[in-house]
Amino acid sequence: MKFQSTRNKNLRLDSAETIARGLSEDGGLFVPVEIPLLEKGEISELSKLGYCERAKKIFAKFMTDFSEGELLECAEKAYIGNFEDDEPTPMVKLGENAYMLELWHGPTCAFKDMALQILPHFLVKAAEKIGGGKKTVILTATSGDTGKAALEGFCDVDGTEIIVFYPANGVSKIQQLQMQTQKGKNVAVCGVIGNFDDTQTAVKNIFTDENIRTKLAENGKCFSSANSINVGRLLPQVVYYISAYADLVADGEIEDGETVNVAVPTGNFGNILAAYYAKRMGVPFGKLICASNANNVLTEFLSTGVYDANRKFYMTESPSMDILVSSNLERLLFELSGKDDEYVSVLMKELREHGKYEVSDGIKEKISAEFAAGFTDDKGAENRIRMLFDEYFYLCDTHTAVAVEVYEKYKAETGDNTKTIIASTASPYKFPRAVLRSVSGENEPDDFEAAKKIEALSGLPMPKQLRELSGKEPRFTCVCEREEMAGFVLSTVGGES
Ligand SMILES: *Cc1c(COP(=O)(O)O)cnc(C)c1O
Repeated sequence: MKFQSTRNKNLRLDSAETIARGLSEDGGLFVPVEIPLLEKGEISELSKLGYCERAKKIFAKFMTDFSEGELLECAEKAYIGNFEDDEPTPMVKLGENAYMLELWHGPTCAFKDMALQILPHFLVKAAEKIGGGKKTVILTATSGDTGKAALEGFCDVDGTEIIVFYPANGVSKIQQLQMQTQKGKNVAVCGVIGNFDDTQTAVKNIFTDENIRTKLAENGKCFSSANSINVGRLLPQVVYYISAYADLVADGEIEDGETVNVAVPTGNFGNILAAYYAKRMGVPFGKLICASNANNVLTEFLSTGVYDANRKFYMTESPSMDILVSSNLERLLFELSGKDDEYVSVLMKELREHGKYEVSDGIKEKISAEFAAGFTDDKGAENRIRMLFDEYFYLCDTHTAVAVEVYEKYKAETGDNTKTIIASTASPYKFPRAVLRSVSGENEPDDFEAAKKIEALSGLPMPKQLRELSGKEPRFTCVCEREEMAGFVLSTVGGES
Protein backbone atom coordinates (compact mmCIF):
# COMPACT_ATOMS: atom_id res chain seq x y z
CA MET A 1 0.00 0.00 0.00
CA LYS A 2 1.27 3.43 -0.96
CA PHE A 3 0.08 6.89 -0.07
CA GLN A 4 -0.17 9.80 -2.50
CA SER A 5 -0.60 13.54 -2.17
CA THR A 6 -3.99 15.10 -2.93
CA ARG A 7 -2.12 17.66 -5.01
CA ASN A 8 0.32 15.35 -6.75
CA LYS A 9 -0.69 11.78 -7.50
CA ASN A 10 2.79 10.90 -8.72
CA LEU A 11 4.30 11.34 -5.30
CA ARG A 12 3.95 7.87 -3.76
CA LEU A 13 5.29 6.87 -0.37
CA ASP A 14 5.12 4.01 2.11
CA SER A 15 3.13 4.60 5.28
CA ALA A 16 6.31 5.08 7.36
CA GLU A 17 7.50 7.95 5.17
CA THR A 18 3.97 9.35 5.01
CA ILE A 19 3.60 9.42 8.79
CA ALA A 20 7.09 10.81 9.26
CA ARG A 21 6.41 13.70 6.87
CA GLY A 22 2.90 14.56 8.05
CA LEU A 23 2.08 17.05 5.32
CA SER A 24 3.21 16.77 1.72
CA GLU A 25 5.70 19.38 0.51
CA ASP A 26 3.26 20.48 -2.21
CA GLY A 27 0.83 21.50 0.56
CA GLY A 28 -1.39 18.50 -0.17
CA LEU A 29 -2.54 15.81 2.24
CA PHE A 30 -1.55 12.17 1.98
CA VAL A 31 -4.25 9.61 1.19
CA PRO A 32 -4.07 5.87 0.53
CA VAL A 33 -3.75 5.11 -3.18
CA GLU A 34 -6.63 2.62 -2.79
CA ILE A 35 -8.99 2.40 0.15
CA PRO A 36 -8.69 -1.26 1.19
CA LEU A 37 -11.85 -3.33 1.54
CA LEU A 38 -12.93 -5.47 4.46
CA GLU A 39 -13.30 -9.10 3.45
CA LYS A 40 -16.59 -10.96 3.48
CA GLY A 41 -17.38 -11.99 7.05
CA GLU A 42 -14.56 -9.88 8.43
CA ILE A 43 -16.75 -7.67 10.63
CA SER A 44 -18.13 -10.76 12.30
CA GLU A 45 -14.54 -12.00 12.83
CA LEU A 46 -13.51 -8.62 14.24
CA SER A 47 -16.47 -8.60 16.60
CA LYS A 48 -14.91 -11.56 18.43
CA LEU A 49 -11.62 -9.73 19.08
CA GLY A 50 -10.47 -7.13 21.61
CA TYR A 51 -9.77 -3.55 20.59
CA CYS A 52 -6.01 -3.91 20.00
CA GLU A 53 -6.39 -7.01 17.83
CA ARG A 54 -9.06 -5.25 15.78
CA ALA A 55 -6.79 -2.23 15.42
CA LYS A 56 -3.87 -4.39 14.29
CA LYS A 57 -5.93 -6.04 11.55
CA ILE A 58 -7.24 -2.73 10.24
CA PHE A 59 -3.86 -0.96 10.36
CA ALA A 60 -2.30 -3.90 8.52
CA LYS A 61 -4.42 -3.14 5.47
CA PHE A 62 -2.97 0.37 5.19
CA MET A 63 0.47 0.08 6.76
CA THR A 64 1.94 -2.80 4.78
CA ASP A 65 5.50 -1.70 5.55
CA PHE A 66 4.91 -2.46 9.26
CA SER A 67 4.76 -6.04 10.55
CA GLU A 68 1.61 -7.20 12.34
CA GLY A 69 3.74 -7.62 15.45
CA GLU A 70 4.83 -4.00 15.28
CA LEU A 71 1.27 -2.80 14.77
CA LEU A 72 -0.03 -4.80 17.72
CA GLU A 73 2.80 -3.50 19.87
CA CYS A 74 1.92 0.10 18.96
CA ALA A 75 -1.77 -0.50 19.72
CA GLU A 76 -1.05 -2.13 23.07
CA LYS A 77 1.33 0.64 24.13
CA ALA A 78 -1.35 3.17 23.22
CA TYR A 79 -4.52 1.62 24.55
CA ILE A 80 -3.58 -0.71 27.39
CA GLY A 81 -3.22 1.09 30.70
CA ASN A 82 -3.79 4.62 29.42
CA PHE A 83 -7.58 4.54 29.23
CA GLU A 84 -10.12 3.94 31.98
CA ASP A 85 -10.66 0.48 30.55
CA ASP A 86 -8.64 -1.65 28.15
CA GLU A 87 -11.66 -1.58 25.84
CA PRO A 88 -11.12 2.14 25.30
CA THR A 89 -14.30 3.14 23.43
CA PRO A 90 -17.46 2.18 25.35
CA MET A 91 -20.89 2.84 23.87
CA VAL A 92 -23.93 4.02 25.83
CA LYS A 93 -27.37 3.43 24.36
CA LEU A 94 -29.82 6.31 24.67
CA GLY A 95 -33.44 5.58 23.82
CA GLU A 96 -34.29 3.23 20.96
CA ASN A 97 -31.82 4.12 18.26
CA ALA A 98 -28.90 6.24 19.45
CA TYR A 99 -25.53 4.94 20.60
CA MET A 100 -23.10 7.37 22.20
CA LEU A 101 -19.60 6.26 21.21
CA GLU A 102 -17.55 7.66 24.09
CA LEU A 103 -14.10 8.42 22.75
CA TRP A 104 -12.85 10.46 25.68
CA HIS A 105 -11.77 8.02 28.37
CA GLY A 106 -8.06 8.63 27.72
CA PRO A 107 -5.44 10.75 29.46
CA THR A 108 -6.64 14.17 28.23
CA CYS A 109 -10.40 13.48 28.20
CA ALA A 110 -11.03 14.19 24.50
CA PHE A 111 -11.27 11.89 21.48
CA LYS A 112 -7.92 13.17 20.21
CA ASP A 113 -6.27 10.69 22.61
CA MET A 114 -7.49 7.81 20.45
CA ALA A 115 -5.08 8.88 17.72
CA LEU A 116 -2.45 10.79 19.67
CA GLN A 117 -1.69 8.00 22.10
CA ILE A 118 -0.63 5.80 19.19
CA LEU A 119 0.88 8.32 16.76
CA PRO A 120 4.17 8.68 18.70
CA HIS A 121 4.67 4.90 18.57
CA PHE A 122 4.00 4.87 14.82
CA LEU A 123 6.46 7.74 14.39
CA VAL A 124 9.26 6.15 16.37
CA LYS A 125 8.89 2.94 14.33
CA ALA A 126 8.63 4.92 11.11
CA ALA A 127 11.84 6.82 11.91
CA GLU A 128 13.63 3.49 12.50
CA LYS A 129 12.45 2.19 9.14
CA ILE A 130 13.49 5.30 7.25
CA GLY A 131 16.82 5.52 9.06
CA GLY A 132 19.10 8.54 8.94
CA GLY A 133 18.80 9.12 12.66
CA LYS A 134 16.97 12.41 12.31
CA LYS A 135 15.12 13.80 15.27
CA THR A 136 11.43 14.54 14.63
CA VAL A 137 10.05 17.93 15.56
CA ILE A 138 6.29 17.81 15.93
CA LEU A 139 4.70 21.10 15.06
CA THR A 140 1.06 21.45 16.00
CA ALA A 141 -1.72 24.01 15.86
CA THR A 142 -4.60 23.31 18.20
CA SER A 143 -8.14 24.53 18.66
CA GLY A 144 -7.88 23.24 22.22
CA ASP A 145 -7.86 19.46 22.50
CA THR A 146 -5.23 18.32 20.00
CA GLY A 147 -2.51 20.31 21.74
CA LYS A 148 -2.83 18.63 25.09
CA ALA A 149 -3.38 15.19 23.60
CA ALA A 150 -0.26 15.59 21.44
CA LEU A 151 1.83 16.88 24.36
CA GLU A 152 0.74 13.94 26.47
CA GLY A 153 1.44 11.46 23.66
CA PHE A 154 4.90 12.81 22.80
CA CYS A 155 6.06 13.79 26.30
CA ASP A 156 9.62 12.44 26.74
CA VAL A 157 9.41 10.15 23.71
CA ASP A 158 13.01 9.63 22.57
CA GLY A 159 13.96 11.18 19.25
CA THR A 160 11.09 13.68 19.29
CA GLU A 161 10.42 17.27 20.29
CA ILE A 162 7.01 18.87 20.25
CA ILE A 163 5.88 22.47 19.84
CA VAL A 164 2.23 23.41 20.28
CA PHE A 165 0.60 26.71 19.27
CA TYR A 166 -2.90 27.56 20.45
CA PRO A 167 -5.10 30.63 19.89
CA ALA A 168 -4.44 32.64 23.07
CA ASN A 169 -8.06 33.66 23.55
CA GLY A 170 -9.70 30.77 21.75
CA VAL A 171 -9.48 27.84 24.17
CA SER A 172 -11.24 27.08 27.45
CA LYS A 173 -9.59 27.75 30.80
CA ILE A 174 -9.17 24.04 31.48
CA GLN A 175 -7.77 23.39 28.00
CA GLN A 176 -5.25 26.21 28.49
CA LEU A 177 -4.20 24.96 31.93
CA GLN A 178 -3.83 21.44 30.59
CA MET A 179 -1.30 22.69 28.03
CA GLN A 180 0.46 25.29 30.18
CA THR A 181 1.18 22.76 32.92
CA GLN A 182 2.51 20.03 30.61
CA LYS A 183 5.56 18.24 31.97
CA GLY A 184 8.41 16.80 29.91
CA LYS A 185 11.85 17.76 28.65
CA ASN A 186 10.97 17.85 24.95
CA VAL A 187 7.87 20.05 24.97
CA ALA A 188 7.13 23.72 24.26
CA VAL A 189 3.82 25.57 24.24
CA CYS A 190 2.97 29.08 23.06
CA GLY A 191 -0.26 31.07 22.70
CA VAL A 192 -0.82 32.98 19.46
CA ILE A 193 -2.71 36.23 19.03
CA GLY A 194 -5.35 35.25 16.49
CA ASN A 195 -7.90 32.47 16.01
CA PHE A 196 -7.37 28.80 15.18
CA ASP A 197 -7.48 29.34 11.42
CA ASP A 198 -4.71 31.96 11.68
CA THR A 199 -2.68 29.61 13.84
CA GLN A 200 -3.18 26.61 11.56
CA THR A 201 -2.29 28.60 8.44
CA ALA A 202 0.88 29.95 10.06
CA VAL A 203 1.92 26.44 11.12
CA LYS A 204 1.33 25.12 7.60
CA ASN A 205 3.49 27.94 6.24
CA ILE A 206 6.32 27.15 8.66
CA PHE A 207 6.09 23.54 7.55
CA THR A 208 6.62 24.29 3.90
CA ASP A 209 9.18 27.08 4.44
CA GLU A 210 12.38 25.99 2.65
CA ASN A 211 14.58 28.20 4.77
CA ILE A 212 13.33 26.77 8.06
CA ARG A 213 13.44 23.20 6.77
CA THR A 214 17.07 23.69 5.76
CA LYS A 215 18.04 25.09 9.15
CA LEU A 216 16.31 22.18 10.81
CA ALA A 217 18.08 19.65 8.58
CA GLU A 218 21.43 21.24 9.49
CA ASN A 219 20.58 20.42 13.10
CA GLY A 220 19.73 16.81 12.21
CA LYS A 221 16.01 17.36 12.63
CA CYS A 222 12.89 17.28 10.48
CA PHE A 223 9.29 18.35 10.91
CA SER A 224 6.25 16.19 11.28
CA SER A 225 2.70 16.96 12.27
CA ALA A 226 0.40 15.72 14.97
CA ASN A 227 -2.56 17.51 13.40
CA SER A 228 -5.29 15.52 11.76
CA ILE A 229 -3.60 16.09 8.44
CA ASN A 230 -1.23 13.26 9.46
CA VAL A 231 -2.35 9.87 8.13
CA GLY A 232 -1.16 8.43 11.44
CA ARG A 233 -4.10 10.19 13.07
CA LEU A 234 -6.69 9.32 10.48
CA LEU A 235 -6.15 5.56 10.63
CA PRO A 236 -6.70 5.12 14.39
CA GLN A 237 -9.96 7.01 13.93
CA VAL A 238 -11.07 4.64 11.18
CA VAL A 239 -10.46 1.82 13.65
CA TYR A 240 -12.93 3.02 16.27
CA TYR A 241 -15.76 3.35 13.78
CA ILE A 242 -15.25 -0.18 12.50
CA SER A 243 -14.86 -1.38 16.08
CA ALA A 244 -18.08 0.37 17.14
CA TYR A 245 -20.00 -1.35 14.38
CA ALA A 246 -18.45 -4.69 15.38
CA ASP A 247 -19.50 -4.02 19.00
CA LEU A 248 -23.09 -3.41 17.95
CA VAL A 249 -23.03 -6.75 16.11
CA ALA A 250 -21.36 -8.51 19.07
CA ASP A 251 -23.93 -7.11 21.51
CA GLY A 252 -26.84 -8.18 19.32
CA GLU A 253 -27.96 -4.57 18.86
CA ILE A 254 -27.87 -4.96 15.07
CA GLU A 255 -27.66 -7.72 12.48
CA ASP A 256 -24.34 -7.94 10.65
CA GLY A 257 -24.97 -5.94 7.48
CA GLU A 258 -27.64 -3.65 8.94
CA THR A 259 -27.30 0.00 7.97
CA VAL A 260 -26.24 2.39 10.74
CA ASN A 261 -25.93 6.17 10.46
CA VAL A 262 -23.12 8.13 12.08
CA ALA A 263 -23.34 11.64 13.57
CA VAL A 264 -20.14 13.57 14.28
CA PRO A 265 -19.49 16.97 15.87
CA THR A 266 -17.16 18.42 13.28
CA GLY A 267 -14.43 21.03 13.06
CA ASN A 268 -11.45 20.12 10.93
CA PHE A 269 -13.40 17.27 9.26
CA GLY A 270 -10.95 14.63 10.51
CA ASN A 271 -13.28 12.56 12.65
CA ILE A 272 -16.13 12.38 10.14
CA LEU A 273 -13.68 11.68 7.33
CA ALA A 274 -12.60 8.59 9.24
CA ALA A 275 -16.24 7.44 9.27
CA TYR A 276 -16.34 8.02 5.50
CA TYR A 277 -13.22 5.86 5.05
CA ALA A 278 -14.76 3.12 7.21
CA LYS A 279 -17.83 3.23 5.00
CA ARG A 280 -15.72 3.02 1.85
CA MET A 281 -13.97 -0.01 3.36
CA GLY A 282 -17.33 -1.72 3.50
CA VAL A 283 -18.86 -0.93 6.90
CA PRO A 284 -22.61 -0.58 6.23
CA PHE A 285 -22.85 3.06 7.26
CA GLY A 286 -25.75 5.05 5.82
CA LYS A 287 -25.85 8.81 6.18
CA LEU A 288 -22.85 10.54 7.70
CA ILE A 289 -24.35 13.42 9.64
CA CYS A 290 -21.97 16.36 9.91
CA ALA A 291 -22.80 18.59 12.88
CA SER A 292 -21.41 22.13 13.20
CA ASN A 293 -21.76 24.90 15.75
CA ALA A 294 -22.43 28.55 14.78
CA ASN A 295 -19.36 28.34 12.53
CA ASN A 296 -21.50 26.58 9.97
CA VAL A 297 -19.30 26.73 6.89
CA LEU A 298 -19.52 22.93 6.48
CA THR A 299 -23.32 22.87 6.77
CA GLU A 300 -23.49 25.29 3.88
CA PHE A 301 -20.86 23.46 1.86
CA LEU A 302 -22.40 20.02 2.24
CA SER A 303 -25.85 21.44 1.40
CA THR A 304 -24.92 23.70 -1.55
CA GLY A 305 -21.45 22.75 -2.80
CA VAL A 306 -20.18 26.27 -2.08
CA TYR A 307 -17.37 26.55 0.44
CA ASP A 308 -17.15 30.11 1.67
CA ALA A 309 -14.83 30.92 4.58
CA ASN A 310 -15.55 34.67 4.22
CA ARG A 311 -17.88 34.92 7.15
CA LYS A 312 -17.98 35.98 10.74
CA PHE A 313 -15.94 33.81 13.06
CA TYR A 314 -17.81 32.94 16.26
CA MET A 315 -16.18 31.95 19.54
CA THR A 316 -18.52 29.34 20.96
CA GLU A 317 -18.85 27.01 23.95
CA SER A 318 -17.62 24.22 21.65
CA PRO A 319 -14.23 25.81 20.90
CA SER A 320 -12.66 22.73 19.32
CA MET A 321 -15.13 23.20 16.47
CA ASP A 322 -14.51 26.93 15.99
CA ILE A 323 -12.95 26.46 12.58
CA LEU A 324 -13.68 28.00 9.19
CA VAL A 325 -11.04 26.20 7.12
CA SER A 326 -11.51 22.46 7.54
CA SER A 327 -8.28 20.89 6.35
CA ASN A 328 -9.43 17.33 5.92
CA LEU A 329 -12.17 18.26 3.49
CA GLU A 330 -9.40 18.25 0.89
CA ARG A 331 -9.19 14.47 1.24
CA LEU A 332 -12.92 14.10 0.60
CA LEU A 333 -12.68 16.35 -2.48
CA PHE A 334 -9.86 14.17 -3.79
CA GLU A 335 -11.94 11.00 -3.39
CA LEU A 336 -15.17 12.47 -4.77
CA SER A 337 -13.45 14.01 -7.78
CA GLY A 338 -12.13 10.59 -8.81
CA LYS A 339 -8.68 11.40 -7.41
CA ASP A 340 -8.25 14.48 -9.59
CA ASP A 341 -5.15 16.11 -8.10
CA GLU A 342 -5.17 19.01 -10.54
CA TYR A 343 -8.79 19.84 -9.75
CA VAL A 344 -8.09 19.70 -6.00
CA SER A 345 -5.07 21.97 -6.46
CA VAL A 346 -7.24 24.52 -8.28
CA LEU A 347 -9.92 24.48 -5.57
CA MET A 348 -7.33 24.89 -2.82
CA LYS A 349 -5.75 27.79 -4.69
CA GLU A 350 -9.16 29.47 -4.90
CA LEU A 351 -9.61 28.88 -1.18
CA ARG A 352 -6.21 30.42 -0.44
CA GLU A 353 -6.71 33.43 -2.68
CA HIS A 354 -10.44 34.13 -2.34
CA GLY A 355 -11.50 32.11 0.71
CA LYS A 356 -14.10 30.43 -1.45
CA TYR A 357 -14.74 27.73 -4.06
CA GLU A 358 -17.62 25.81 -5.56
CA VAL A 359 -17.47 22.14 -6.53
CA SER A 360 -18.88 20.54 -9.69
CA ASP A 361 -22.44 19.20 -9.93
CA GLY A 362 -21.09 15.66 -10.00
CA ILE A 363 -19.40 16.15 -6.64
CA LYS A 364 -22.49 17.85 -5.20
CA GLU A 365 -24.55 14.78 -6.05
CA LYS A 366 -22.06 12.44 -4.42
CA ILE A 367 -22.00 14.61 -1.31
CA SER A 368 -25.76 14.56 -0.90
CA ALA A 369 -25.80 10.78 -1.31
CA GLU A 370 -23.31 10.30 1.53
CA PHE A 371 -23.77 13.21 3.91
CA ALA A 372 -26.40 15.12 5.82
CA ALA A 373 -25.44 18.35 7.55
CA GLY A 374 -26.80 20.72 10.15
CA PHE A 375 -25.72 23.18 12.80
CA THR A 376 -26.83 24.59 16.10
CA ASP A 377 -25.75 27.51 18.27
CA ASP A 378 -24.74 27.47 21.95
CA LYS A 379 -28.38 27.73 23.07
CA GLY A 380 -29.37 24.67 21.05
CA ALA A 381 -26.44 22.70 22.47
CA GLU A 382 -27.22 23.78 26.06
CA ASN A 383 -30.87 22.80 25.69
CA ARG A 384 -29.83 19.42 24.40
CA ILE A 385 -27.43 18.85 27.32
CA ARG A 386 -30.30 19.59 29.71
CA MET A 387 -32.74 17.36 27.84
CA LEU A 388 -30.33 14.40 27.84
CA PHE A 389 -29.69 14.91 31.53
CA ASP A 390 -33.40 15.18 32.38
CA GLU A 391 -34.52 12.32 30.18
CA TYR A 392 -31.68 9.82 30.54
CA PHE A 393 -29.60 11.20 33.42
CA TYR A 394 -26.82 11.26 30.80
CA LEU A 395 -24.24 14.02 30.84
CA CYS A 396 -22.49 15.08 27.65
CA ASP A 397 -20.10 17.89 26.76
CA THR A 398 -20.84 20.92 24.59
CA HIS A 399 -19.34 19.45 21.39
CA THR A 400 -21.18 16.16 21.66
CA ALA A 401 -24.39 18.09 22.37
CA VAL A 402 -24.06 19.79 18.99
CA ALA A 403 -24.03 16.38 17.33
CA VAL A 404 -27.01 15.09 19.30
CA GLU A 405 -29.01 18.23 18.53
CA VAL A 406 -28.25 18.06 14.81
CA TYR A 407 -29.05 14.34 14.80
CA GLU A 408 -32.45 15.02 16.41
CA LYS A 409 -33.18 17.75 13.87
CA TYR A 410 -32.17 15.43 11.03
CA LYS A 411 -34.49 12.72 12.34
CA ALA A 412 -37.38 15.14 12.71
CA GLU A 413 -36.88 16.55 9.21
CA THR A 414 -36.33 13.30 7.33
CA GLY A 415 -38.16 10.70 9.41
CA ASP A 416 -34.99 8.58 9.09
CA ASN A 417 -34.99 6.44 12.24
CA THR A 418 -31.98 4.33 11.30
CA LYS A 419 -29.87 3.36 14.31
CA THR A 420 -27.13 5.92 14.74
CA ILE A 421 -23.68 6.00 16.29
CA ILE A 422 -23.05 9.47 17.72
CA ALA A 423 -19.41 10.35 18.30
CA SER A 424 -19.04 11.64 21.85
CA THR A 425 -15.84 13.62 21.69
CA ALA A 426 -15.04 15.06 25.13
CA SER A 427 -15.68 14.59 28.82
CA PRO A 428 -18.33 17.01 30.12
CA TYR A 429 -15.74 18.04 32.73
CA LYS A 430 -13.59 19.69 30.08
CA PHE A 431 -16.25 22.40 29.74
CA PRO A 432 -17.78 22.47 33.21
CA ARG A 433 -19.16 26.03 33.30
CA ALA A 434 -21.26 25.57 30.17
CA VAL A 435 -22.36 22.09 31.23
CA LEU A 436 -23.42 23.30 34.69
CA ARG A 437 -25.33 26.23 33.19
CA SER A 438 -27.10 23.78 30.90
CA VAL A 439 -28.22 21.33 33.57
CA SER A 440 -28.99 23.70 36.45
CA GLY A 441 -29.14 27.20 34.98
CA GLU A 442 -26.41 28.30 37.36
CA ASN A 443 -23.64 30.69 36.26
CA GLU A 444 -20.56 29.61 38.19
CA PRO A 445 -17.51 31.56 36.99
CA ASP A 446 -14.89 29.10 38.26
CA ASP A 447 -14.31 25.88 36.29
CA PHE A 448 -13.39 23.76 39.29
CA GLU A 449 -16.29 25.01 41.41
CA ALA A 450 -18.61 24.31 38.48
CA ALA A 451 -17.16 20.81 38.23
CA LYS A 452 -17.85 20.14 41.92
CA LYS A 453 -21.44 21.19 41.46
CA ILE A 454 -21.84 18.91 38.46
CA GLU A 455 -20.43 16.05 40.51
CA ALA A 456 -23.02 16.71 43.21
CA LEU A 457 -25.85 16.81 40.67
CA SER A 458 -24.84 13.83 38.56
CA GLY A 459 -22.80 11.57 40.82
CA LEU A 460 -20.32 11.27 37.93
CA PRO A 461 -16.78 11.88 39.22
CA MET A 462 -14.52 14.43 37.53
CA PRO A 463 -11.60 12.60 35.90
CA LYS A 464 -8.57 12.73 38.17
CA GLN A 465 -6.29 14.21 35.52
CA LEU A 466 -8.62 17.25 35.25
CA ARG A 467 -9.21 17.57 38.98
CA GLU A 468 -5.44 17.72 39.56
CA LEU A 469 -5.11 20.82 37.38
CA SER A 470 -6.70 22.93 40.08
CA GLY A 471 -4.05 25.14 41.63
CA LYS A 472 -1.20 23.89 39.41
CA GLU A 473 1.30 26.57 38.39
CA PRO A 474 1.46 27.24 34.63
CA ARG A 475 4.87 26.42 33.19
CA PHE A 476 4.41 27.91 29.68
CA THR A 477 2.92 31.39 29.69
CA CYS A 478 4.41 32.70 26.44
CA VAL A 479 2.14 34.43 23.91
CA CYS A 480 3.33 35.67 20.51
CA GLU A 481 2.16 37.33 17.31
CA ARG A 482 1.68 35.18 14.22
CA GLU A 483 4.80 36.71 12.65
CA GLU A 484 6.85 35.57 15.65
CA MET A 485 5.92 31.89 15.42
CA ALA A 486 8.73 30.92 13.04
CA GLY A 487 11.23 32.58 15.38
CA PHE A 488 9.80 30.69 18.34
CA VAL A 489 10.15 27.42 16.44
CA LEU A 490 13.75 28.09 15.46
CA SER A 491 14.83 29.15 18.92
CA THR A 492 13.12 26.14 20.50
CA VAL A 493 14.71 23.57 18.20
CA GLY A 494 18.13 25.12 18.48
CA GLY A 495 18.49 26.96 15.18
CA GLU A 496 18.79 30.73 15.28
CA SER A 497 15.72 32.80 14.55
C1 LIG B 1 -11.29 18.22 17.70
C2 LIG B 1 -12.64 18.11 18.29
C3 LIG B 1 -13.79 18.06 17.48
C4 LIG B 1 -13.72 18.22 15.98
O1 LIG B 1 -13.13 17.11 15.35
P1 LIG B 1 -12.56 17.22 13.86
O2 LIG B 1 -11.88 15.95 13.60
O3 LIG B 1 -11.62 18.39 13.87
O4 LIG B 1 -13.73 17.48 12.96
C5 LIG B 1 -15.01 17.87 18.10
N1 LIG B 1 -15.11 17.75 19.43
C6 LIG B 1 -14.03 17.80 20.24
C7 LIG B 1 -14.21 17.68 21.72
C8 LIG B 1 -12.75 17.97 19.71
O5 LIG B 1 -11.69 18.01 20.51
